[in-house]
Amino acid sequence: MSSPSVRDLREHLGSPRVCYLCSLSLLQAEAVVDHVTPVTRGGTNDVANLAWAHRTCNQAKRDLLVSELCALAFGAWVLSTTFDRS
Ligand SMILES: [Zn+2]
Repeated sequence: MSSPSVRDLREHLGSPRVCYLCSLSLLQAEAVVDHVTPVTRGGTNDVANLAWAHRTCNQAKRDLLVSELCALAFGAWVLSTTFDRS
């Protein structure tokens, strides 16, 4: 299977507007296409598995699944609320 071209991605995903990971607005200059299910975890280059994200969010996600990222974020939040009480 050949990788989709940037033109294919734009047709299917539209212009980048919102990061699918953090839901904040996305400028073209900071937008990257992310594999929702990472290729290393069995994800494909199919446009159904691709979404716009901030470059920083994409790097933070690494090869995690979104559910794993949410679990990590929740765990970090719980720890921060536990240790911030003084
Ligand atoms: Zn983001």
